[in-house]
Amino acid sequence: MDRLRPDTVPFAVMAIPELEQLFGEPALPAASTGTARLLVVEDDPLLAQSLIELLAHPHRSFEHARTVGEAIATLKAQTFDLILLDYRLPDATGLTVMEWLCDAERSETVIIVSGEVSPDAAIGGLRRGAHDYLQKPYHPDQMRRAVDNAMRKTELERANERMRHQLEESGRLHRHLIEHSPDLIYTLTPEGRFAYVNLRVESLLGFRRDDLIGQHYDKLLWPEEHRQSRDAFRERRTGARAAANVEVRLRRHPVTDGGHEHGTPYITVMLNAMGMYSHNKDGNVLQPRFLGTYGVARDISDRKHAEELVAYQAYHDQLTQLPNRALFQDRLELAMAQAQRRGATLGVMFIDLDRFKLVNDSFGHTEGDKLLRAIAARLKNCLRRGDTLARQGGDEFTALLPDLSSPEDAATIASKILQELREPFPVAHTEFRATVSIGIALYPRDGNSAEALTQHADIAMYKVKSRGRNSACFFSAEMNVEHMERVTLERELARAVEQGELELEYQPKYSLSRRRMVGVEALVRWRHPQRGLIPPSEFIDIAEESGLIGPISEWVLNEACAQMARWRDMGYEQLQLAVNLSPRDFDRDNIVDDVCNTTQRHSLPPSSLDIEITESSLLRDTEGVARKVRQLRKQGYGVSIDDFGTGFSSLAYLQKLPVTSLKIDRSFVRELDGGNNRHPIVSAIAGVAHGFGLHVIAEGVETEQQVYALRAMGCDEMQGFYFGKPLPAAAITARLEQHQATQQGPSVFHA
Ligand code: C2E
Ligand code: CA
Ligand code: CA
Repeated sequence: MDRLRPDTVPFAVMAIPELEQLFGEPALPAASTGTARLLVVEDDPLLAQSLIELLAHPHRSFEHARTVGEAIATLKAQTFDLILLDYRLPDATGLTVMEWLCDAERSETVIIVSGEVSPDAAIGGLRRGAHDYLQKPYHPDQMRRAVDNAMRKTELERANERMRHQLEESGRLHRHLIEHSPDLIYTLTPEGRFAYVNLRVESLLGFRRDDLIGQHYDKLLWPEEHRQSRDAFRERRTGARAAANVEVRLRRHPVTDGGHEHGTPYITVMLNAMGMYSHNKDGNVLQPRFLGTYGVARDISDRKHAEELVAYQAYHDQLTQLPNRALFQDRLELAMAQAQRRGATLGVMFIDLDRFKLVNDSFGHTEGDKLLRAIAARLKNCLRRGDTLARQGGDEFTALLPDLSSPEDAATIASKILQELREPFPVAHTEFRATVSIGIALYPRDGNSAEALTQHADIAMYKVKSRGRNSACFFSAEMNVEHMERVTLERELARAVEQGELELEYQPKYSLSRRRMVGVEALVRWRHPQRGLIPPSEFIDIAEESGLIGPISEWVLNEACAQMARWRDMGYEQLQLAVNLSPRDFDRDNIVDDVCNTTQRHSLPPSSLDIEITESSLLRDTEGVARKVRQLRKQGYGVSIDDFGTGFSSLAYLQKLPVTSLKIDRSFVRELDGGNNRHPIVSAIAGVAHGFGLHVIAEGVETEQQVYALRAMGCDEMQGFYFGKPLPAAAITARLEQHQATQQGPSVFHA
């Protein structure tokens, strides 16, 4: 029974009082050690005295009674180990005492001592349970032997009694432990019927124990249980080969209203079982005889449930409960194998939400999560049974279309998705029109591995994004070429800073009222050894996505400040420098320190530097950026909001942000052509800026007409091709010198 380890029969489950009750309850019969107690019943005091002297011993104590009446009274008061009983007594014979002992169910050993010669006394005494009979006069040795014998017998009987009692107690303990074990414990007959099952079966499975006894064990097994598990339950083997830790599902008695611990139709137990044998001697060999099965089953449903949950979580997205990337990959591989066998086409869709970041940033993650769930549900509606929709992470989903009769099928599903999303989603008291960009790759045309297909669908999706979103397109080989170029560009950009391939140009900013160049904006270019000069629009995005923007910004800041220091040395101390920082730069904790250190290194006063941040970067993490903007302002730097008016939000955040100027975006300035002298947005921005005490700069000014219109709307500072294109530092220096010499700027100053 080594399987019944302490951990399968936990003692701890028993309440302490119960244990005390089991171990400490009944008083054991008179003590075995210590003093033996003898009662001498004898009417002759001299005889009694000589008897006591004869038997005297340090471990014996004596009482004396002279009559039957006295003897019974003494016996009522206490128990003895031995009684030396005279037969003939004044009030009755010793047999009366014997009868009394019998009635009282006493266990004292009795030796009858009598002068009677008739055998009646001896026979009557022995019949009533006397241990021995001695004829008076007796030889002292005879008496001593008789008493010693009787004492030994008493001692043996007492020891036996104690043993029996202890056995009974430990039997009771074991029964109790087994009955109340948290494990299910059972024995089966050789035919597989329940011979015993503990009470646990009632709370665990809802069957009545009495109804199970005699029943075949099949009654408890879950019908779909595997053959091996079924066999384990009625294990015949013993030792190491017997069933150990086998998972078995047991049926639960159907209940109408929750009486069980679990609400499932079955529970899973961990089973340990073995055969029970007796060994009979057949001639000279021991013949084992199968007696049945003994088993212990532990409920592991909770653990099973937890394991299943973990497995589920490993393959599903927590937020949407959709399959995750890993499960998608799995199913895709399976579907590809099947498609290959059948010569069929399958499709992989990469679905990316457009502008999802805006929702997260403006309304918080709770709203963002809600939206993702709602979108997932709607996407799922567009797919057919057998298709798999998965969440790749963030705002990206993938769909597996394992059964396409033609590529058009995938196009149809894509347009259904775009159609379905037209209906806006409720987001935080307002509505959000979600659009998606969908890229589609087909097997076997566009790749023959799960990774390649998913990646190609992703590349096609990127193509949709760059073409203006909210659409779908199929992957094509040219896209791969573009993609590879992008990857190459990224690799080359990583080395551009170290290899000195970056350059700066400076575009002048003019003030109409002061009639001169008041500042320059530093604009970066990449002089690529093979491709020539690459404009920032073609590599800033890549730099931001790949994290290369950090060192680039650092280089630009340092290079521009160095140039500024040179101009200041030349006497142009009024000149302002504007440097563009990327939203990603504001994710860095040390950006403010970087700016401070750089200007200090070149001995520039903070007031000569303007940091330009795009409006969209303020939307990403308004609080985090605002804190850094406040720090920059506190140090004395200027902060401008670039591309102002193109962003998503209102002017409300200006209250939180102590910026110094707004740069009206080129797109508004462009609209000031063709007799359009006023632009409602530009006037509004100029008005608000003045209200907040901010500078307004118009950028992208190309015509004289725009200059007049802007001036009429209260805009004084301007930047654009009309005043000058971005130029190398030397050209700016030349222009500064020329202005100083001629006191002349662009003709508009003189109008
Ligand atoms: P931006 O900050 O809005 O810079 C102004 C852009 O408008 C420059 O393009 C400039 O050449 C162009 N521009 C100026 N005047 C006119 C005009 O009258 N008409 C037209 N059509 N365009 C005009 P560029 O140099 O290609 O820079 C493009 C964008 O790249 C910049 O826009 C800026 O967002 C980014 N960028 C440039 N340099 C840096 C840099 O050092 N760091 C970061 N993070 N971004 C930079
Ligand atoms: Ca700028
Ligand atoms: Ca701009």
